[in-house]
Amino acid sequence: MIPFMDLRAQYLTIKTEVDEAVGRVLESGQFVLGEEVEAFEREFAAYAGASHGIAVSSGTAALHLALLAAGVGTGHEVITVPFTFVATVAAICDAGARPVLVDIDPKSFTIDVTRIAAAITPRTKAILPVHLYGQTADMDPIRAIADRHGLVVIEDAAQAHGAQYKGRPAGSLGHLACFSFYPTKNLGAYGEGGLIVTSNDAFAGRLRLLRNWGQATKDHHVLAGFNARMHALQGAILRVKLRHLGRWTDVRRQHAARYNDSLAGADVTRPEEMAYARHVYHQYTVRSRERDALRAALAADGIATGVHYPTPVHMQPAYASLGYKPGALPASERASAEVLSLPVSPELTDAQIETVAAAVRAAVAVAWRPPPWSL
Ligand SMILES: *Cc1c(COP(=O)(O)O)cnc(C)c1O
Repeated sequence: MIPFMDLRAQYLTIKTEVDEAVGRVLESGQFVLGEEVEAFEREFAAYAGASHGIAVSSGTAALHLALLAAGVGTGHEVITVPFTFVATVAAICDAGARPVLVDIDPKSFTIDVTRIAAAITPRTKAILPVHLYGQTADMDPIRAIADRHGLVVIEDAAQAHGAQYKGRPAGSLGHLACFSFYPTKNLGAYGEGGLIVTSNDAFAGRLRLLRNWGQATKDHHVLAGFNARMHALQGAILRVKLRHLGRWTDVRRQHAARYNDSLAGADVTRPEEMAYARHVYHQYTVRSRERDALRAALAADGIATGVHYPTPVHMQPAYASLGYKPGALPASERASAEVLSLPVSPELTDAQIETVAAAVRAAVAVAWRPPPWSL
């Protein structure tokens, strides 16, 4: 049995440090925000190449508050992709704005930068590119279009801790960037968590207010805010885990390189690391026209896989009112039908990665090729 991921196994490798940090928080009596969270904000902002970190309660809260801090609200449009986790689009709606969906580039699975200009209207306020699977969007053209039209760029970096674009870290590429620490992410809390990084002092100030009921000083509320504060336990745990993230990312990249070698010539499309990118392989995602058969064959071999995401957001019932018809965003729709994520978590051994690759090769070689006598 090869699991997709094993969060308990990862915990056991860092148990002493985590237990010590948890004990320290319990002894401190400070359970929300506080010193541990502030230290984590500084450490993560430095890691992401930005001057401020604002820790919040989830990646979704990070997106919602980043949009509000950037001035997005009713009557505005925000450009993003349909091939993402639903939270990207939900956060735009939560901010009161309308998501305008642009198709993806089928090679990188990120926003097709050649289609952005045509989606801009007088109501456009921001562009929200998603660094899907751990690879950044093509940010230079996005920044150029945004600068030309006076738009804010907000990175959805929920899957891209430590990813780089032309040597610069995810988090330093837009005006604001949003990270998630949901347990399954490359840097995962033991509960919910998120963080916004920015090098803009005004955005940072507004975010600190928004996440804490808009409270400037005790009982003085200067903005209509929210309860979106990070728990001290999560801050302390994330500080421990951040120290291991570089090593875990290296192992993910080694696993990806092993898959790339092992699957060369097999009848699946391997993920492509773009020339501009350092991919951190939150997911190692192949494409196959026979995705469901491949997934079933691997399951029969005891190998867990994932589909990220089987339905693009514009085809979800909850977003039918946006008015996109099937066929409107074809690269996203095709990707949803073809993608399959193989296990790539750092706790897996090289031998397990080889086992998965061998199972993929065997499945695509025998399962649906026409038998030789029929040719
Ligand atoms: C996980 C994720 C989010 C939401 O983060 P939560 O912490 O689960 O709220 C947003 N966008 C993308 C691309 C994600 O993968």
